[in-house]
Amino acid sequence: MHEALQQLKAHLAANPTRGRAYDILAFMTDTCLERPNHEGKLTFEAETLLTGCGGSAEREKEPKDWIPNIRALRRALNLSQPKSGPRLRMGYQPGGGRGNVSLYWLELEPEGDNQSAEVEPSTTVIYRRSANGSIRPSIVARLFLRQGEMRNLSVRGISFLSIVLLASAIWVAMLALMLLALSVTPGPITTGNLIILILTVLGFVFIWREFWQPWFQVVNDCVVKAPLWLTAISEKNSCELEMFRQGKYRWTRLVRFSADCSICGSNIELRSGKPDQNLPLVGRCIESPYAHVYSFDRMTLQGIYLGPSTPSKPHAPSPSEESPAEGARCTTQTS
Ligand SMILES: [Zn+2]
Repeated sequence: MHEALQQLKAHLAANPTRGRAYDILAFMTDTCLERPNHEGKLTFEAETLLTGCGGSAEREKEPKDWIPNIRALRRALNLSQPKSGPRLRMGYQPGGGRGNVSLYWLELEPEGDNQSAEVEPSTTVIYRRSANGSIRPSIVARLFLRQGEMRNLSVRGISFLSIVLLASAIWVAMLALMLLALSVTPGPITTGNLIILILTVLGFVFIWREFWQPWFQVVNDCVVKAPLWLTAISEKNSCELEMFRQGKYRWTRLVRFSADCSICGSNIELRSGKPDQNLPLVGRCIESPYAHVYSFDRMTLQGIYLGPSTPSKPHAPSPSEESPAEGARCTTQTS
């Protein structure tokens, strides 16, 4: 057991990989190695893992919403170990009901027991939607996106959307004026004029895409990538802008959709489908953004593997494995 733990620790240190599943593996390995006696089963609850691995913003989340599904954890563990020699496997006891929490532990894989068949990649992923108000808007965005959301037809919403429309119109008018001024400049076109023209057009396209376009696009697409200036600097990962109807009103809010990559166990975030996919928004693995690509369905929160190559032997996950059971209040137990 000790040798397998040391081996896993060395592999994780030599191959730093981003993603919750790998952070959890490193935490569990270190905790197991810190014990004077490395033998025996040390079980972890989701809350312990969240406290040990989650960032300060993540610690306010429900542990069961934060922890990757068991398949992603097993997949990450499988990829972090050599095919032969002493190997560890991830033990899991699903929770259910009050006070009965899910438990995770590392144990030695019996020789000849090839667990890899059980952790073949699935072709689907399940997205999580961040809780309301969990994404912090920037100081400017807080003026209208209070708690990260606004009702479109409230005073604040109308004021803001009017500003967006007006600013977009002014921006287009400024570009037109600039082009007009350049076209009526007497004399031949100089290199200076050409540079000004190119910089003006590039600047226009950049500002348009970063500041104004998402607000027009979200009306039809329902979910778009949020412009960077909307989120606080403390938010490390990008997020999305979602427009939805609730009752009689339409709302706009900041939200983050994420999932666990079924191939490598790392995190999936939504990004543009360009240049390799036809969809405007796809789920891309942060460790392999062009090899582990999934579709995104806002209503079912499901994604299907898109390519470029199909994972070997697709395996449909059983519902009990897909997400930890509810009520994952946690403490570490030893036995
Ligand atoms: Zn991946």
